[in-house]
Amino acid sequence: MENLNVFQQVQAQIKDACDLLGLDNNYYEILKTPQRAMEVAVPVRMDDGSVKTFIGYRSQHNTANGPAKGGIRFHPDVSFDEVKTLSMWMTFKCAVIGLPYGGGKGGIIVDPSKLSKNELERLARGFVRRLGDFIGPEIDIPAPDVNTNPQIMAWMVDEFNAMKGYNNPGVITGKPVLIGGSLGRTEATGSGVVITTREACKAMGIDLKGAKVAVHGYGNVGSYAGLYLQELGAKVVAAFDLGGGAYNADGMDAVALINYVKSNRTVKGFAGTESITPEELFALDVDVLVLAALENTITMENQHLIKAKIVSEGANGPITADAHKKISERGIVVIPDILCNAGGVTVSYFEWVQNLQNYYWSVEEVNEKLERNMVNAFNALWNMGKEKKVDLRTAAYLVAIRRVADAMKLYGWV
Ligand code: GLU
Repeated sequence: MENLNVFQQVQAQIKDACDLLGLDNNYYEILKTPQRAMEVAVPVRMDDGSVKTFIGYRSQHNTANGPAKGGIRFHPDVSFDEVKTLSMWMTFKCAVIGLPYGGGKGGIIVDPSKLSKNELERLARGFVRRLGDFIGPEIDIPAPDVNTNPQIMAWMVDEFNAMKGYNNPGVITGKPVLIGGSLGRTEATGSGVVITTREACKAMGIDLKGAKVAVHGYGNVGSYAGLYLQELGAKVVAAFDLGGGAYNADGMDAVALINYVKSNRTVKGFAGTESITPEELFALDVDVLVLAALENTITMENQHLIKAKIVSEGANGPITADAHKKISERGIVVIPDILCNAGGVTVSYFEWVQNLQNYYWSVEEVNEKLERNMVNAFNALWNMGKEKKVDLRTAAYLVAIRRVADAMKLYGWV
């Protein structure tokens, strides 16, 4: 049986990269587990007057390169192991792009669709009351992730400000623009997916004009990825989300599809499409497959289905280690999560810089800097992959762990 425990998988990734870099075991000893990880219980007064306790987590993996940074997700399947793993991936994601951050992540075990808006606000505020002493612009800076959004970030910042007694816009990124959010942040993860996918196409001689794309996970990341790929001339032929799938061999209009999802909360039933299962979507003969849902989407059970030339990991950890090996052996290029979806945290960094300076940039400035960061990071990994004859994920881990290891060495941790 394949090991689907993401925590053990990331530990194996770290170990392999430390070995490849010839680092002694002391580095792995530090990197194999988060430096601080917390479990909190958040009691929430529900609208019917009863009290319900929700369990949440925050993990800070490594702060050698700067304060911890990473999102908070609201999902029924959140677990401590998952949050720890995601915080480790954040350390390496920030290091790949060269952001002055370590990795953090948080999560609450909750199905937010079952909560009213007021209950959601009380939950968000309660979580921050528990964590208030352990987050901050110089300590750990949360942001949106699965099922969280700018409004939830706004409530969290407000609660933090109330605890401290003054305004701290830099404590959380992904805020609404009116209260210190950055222009371009909401679209940034999808945009980064498209920049790295475009660069991969260029390097592989694939023309994006007329290229076929399938998107698994049509939320914030997947929908913007589809939209921007369409702007570059590609056709989104299939999309899938929790409500079901939509398929049209001639392509769907990504703008109309986004509007359809706004009112119907799923892509299923979009005009002119047939429904499609995830297995059918993975098996499509497309140029690009965007995986933008959750961890362990592609495993040894379904990896053989994939026919795409490029798989872009919009989500964190969507392909298991074993499945990744098989896919790569078939010559399919996987753009690894810690590069592919790093556009979000990159613009989070820009937001934090703007907050600290209290000086705000135009969307053109944000996008131009995002483009430059992502293209440079992609080229560095692509060239390293060719030079060392390793896949892009291995190249990404080599770059990331080297950067973290060098900082740890200078600080005298190892
Ligand atoms: N949740 C996003 C991620 O997984 C963004 C994190 C951030 O902006 O800090 O990369």
